[in-house]
Amino acid sequence: MTGNIHSIETCGTLDGPGIRYVIFMQGCPLRCKYCHNPDTWAFNGGKQFTPNEVVEDILKYRSFIKRGGVTFSGGEPLLQAEFVLEVLKQCKKYGIHTAIDTSGCVPLSVCAGTLDYVDLVLLDIKHIDTNVCKILTGMGNENTIRMLEYLEEKKKDVWIRHVIVPGFTEDYKALENMAEFLSHYTVISKIELLPFHKMGEYKWKSLGFDYELLHTSEPTKESIIKVKDIFKKYKFNVI
Ligand code: SF4
Repeated sequence: MTGNIHSIETCGTLDGPGIRYVIFMQGCPLRCKYCHNPDTWAFNGGKQFTPNEVVEDILKYRSFIKRGGVTFSGGEPLLQAEFVLEVLKQCKKYGIHTAIDTSGCVPLSVCAGTLDYVDLVLLDIKHIDTNVCKILTGMGNENTIRMLEYLEEKKKDVWIRHVIVPGFTEDYKALENMAEFLSHYTVISKIELLPFHKMGEYKWKSLGFDYELLHTSEPTKESIIKVKDIFKKYKFNVI
């Protein structure tokens, strides 16, 4: 078995606790208008590795990641759920903490077994309103919500990620609805708010894609504080 990997970052600090070995998997079925990694979209891109090759490489960094771990990101890592599962099983054997950064768009019938082996899920809820979610990403949020229910049932640690995009998700009423909705789940230990930025814009241009958010500005500091306060009202740990 092989997996298609876009790239690997050996000392990541943004995707889970501590210093992490981050594996960016190739392929994503979503088309988020703000995506900064459109070069991961193609399913057949990247470089092929076997699970053993990846684990051998991870073990070289074991002393660096001992207070962190391994994170699968992408793209959408759960599209290659079987490959990810093989690596997770071996990480578990070596006592390495594991995380998956996912949009939750892959049906549970495909990825529940993989989720059972991961320590932390960074669940990127794109929008609480499935209709807006569809406009923003090309897909509704039903699978994501189902995944959250499953993670609650399995008592898995979850960090919710949410990108604040003016004109789409910078909607205080929808954010209030989202905070209220999420407050019913006991497994969420953190909310990570990610202000929209345009650092990936050049990739859209170089790939010949039409970047619709060309004239969308980044959210102001004041707006981010306001959004944080909405989640804090529901007793969330927000960063
Ligand atoms: S889920 Fe991630 S990789 Fe896929 S389109 Fe959205 S932002 Fe890009």
